[in-house]
Amino acid sequence: MTTARPHRSSKTPGSVALVGAGPGDPGLITVRGLALLRGADVLVYDRLGAAGLIRFARADARLIYVGKQPKQHTKTQAQITRILIREARAGHTVVRLKGGDPFVFGRGGEEAEALAAAGIPFEVVPGITSAIAGPAAAGIPVTHRDAAASVAIATAHEAPGKAGSRINWGALAGADTAVLLMGVERLAGVARALIDAGKPASTPAAVIQDATLPTMRTVTAPLSRIAAAAARAKIRAPAITVVGDVVALRAVLGGWDTRPLSGIRVLVTRTREQASELSAILSELGADVVEAPAIRVEPPRSFAKLDLAVSKMNGSAYDWVVFTSANGVRAFASRLQAAGLDARAFAAAKVAAVGPGTADTLSSLGIVADLVPPSFTTVAIGKAFPRGKGHVLLARADVVEPGLEETVEEKGWTVETVTAYRLRGQTSIPSGVRKAIMAGEIDVLTFASGGTVRAFMKLLKGKPPTKTNVVCIGPVTAKAAREAGLRVSAVARTHTIPGLVAAVVDVAGAKKSGSKRSGSPRRARAR
Ligand code: SAH
Repeated sequence: MTTARPHRSSKTPGSVALVGAGPGDPGLITVRGLALLRGADVLVYDRLGAAGLIRFARADARLIYVGKQPKQHTKTQAQITRILIREARAGHTVVRLKGGDPFVFGRGGEEAEALAAAGIPFEVVPGITSAIAGPAAAGIPVTHRDAAASVAIATAHEAPGKAGSRINWGALAGADTAVLLMGVERLAGVARALIDAGKPASTPAAVIQDATLPTMRTVTAPLSRIAAAAARAKIRAPAITVVGDVVALRAVLGGWDTRPLSGIRVLVTRTREQASELSAILSELGADVVEAPAIRVEPPRSFAKLDLAVSKMNGSAYDWVVFTSANGVRAFASRLQAAGLDARAFAAAKVAAVGPGTADTLSSLGIVADLVPPSFTTVAIGKAFPRGKGHVLLARADVVEPGLEETVEEKGWTVETVTAYRLRGQTSIPSGVRKAIMAGEIDVLTFASGGTVRAFMKLLKGKPPTKTNVVCIGPVTAKAAREAGLRVSAVARTHTIPGLVAAVVDVAGAKKSGSKRSGSPRRARAR
């Protein structure tokens, strides 16, 4: 075996892997599937399941979209198989990503047959099918010792009564649990066919849209009323219908879509580097997170002053160093490293951090903060700072809330402030995001600094969305938001990212109890 990537000439045959992408959440692809996706020369994909996975493809991989929209086939099945064969013959490693499991109503069987007939080496990597994972995510086990010993999976695509329909409605009605894929718009006919075939009209049923995705929604009703309930809730494809006593277990188990932030769209305006922590916690709680960084972090115009501070620090010139953000810590640490120094340069100084996020970043460098104020604002740092004599270094952004330097000086210290990084407003916001904000399609806007509020308003050209809930990390940020004409719905009680999330949960709770949706038990999901 060689470690280098094999050189492929046009005469070396490539291969195709039919990879199951899982039902939608990118975490639900298999380990083998992800490994093949990461190595692929060519990725052939469609809409179902691929959205969160494409980013794992190599930067130089070629992406071919063969997606089908309902009623508007962009590529026929024959064209898709021709592409697979052509790319493999050209010597490429091809991954054909398919929603759910490739062999469950995905036409994977036909693609595999065509590859076999063409003599192309291929592999099938099974996936987690939406037929089973969709109900599971909604809190519905398709089998259960007490409630269901058999499950049947069928397509609702073929209208009941359609000439040549191969669906055995009697067999479907006879299974303890029936799962129907596709054809959600034909639900009324399907329900009638099941009832006609002997399924009691009172059997619990559920329709699950966008299972495992942030936009997931579930509607439950007895079989005789499920079509009307789904229509009222405007359920659209992709959706799965489950019929059987097991559906009742959802009320006990809860689903991915009954988390505190399920159904809530939250905008994260932090810098790209800092957004991920906030986004991750929000997503974990079920939110549909949209990231639109309003600001970005840039190095200072020159490192001269910062580097001088670093070298003075190494020469024990400071009694205290104060960091008012994790960005400041990272910027300082990177110049420390550039000078060939490490945490030992801090040996003679005490260190203050504005809050736990900043303190955590310090601790990743092996430095334990000596002072973290009881409330995590710059005002609180000033208040908590001890009286004394000596030199204090403030390593900060170029634009800061005023007052800290003065407060520390009033306590007897000589303060030196150095710009560790600069904050710049982003120059554009994706037009889709701007439209969603202005149309009121975002439920909550989050802000973690006043500077971000001001940069965000510039991006919106000063027009504040007046109806959208705004949640701020602390009082200074909230003041900036109010001054910008935004309606502040909540301010975090503790001025940290978890505190900000807790405030978003409060606002979402109030919004949800104001507009109750049917069929969703309001309980947190243990994940
Ligand atoms: N091979 C896929 C199914 C492809 S057929 C699988 O194993 O999951 C497409 C149908 O699958 C859709 O019409 C819908 O009924 C169902 N489906 C796929 N993903 C879904 C999702 N995330 N939520 C609800 N239904 C889904």
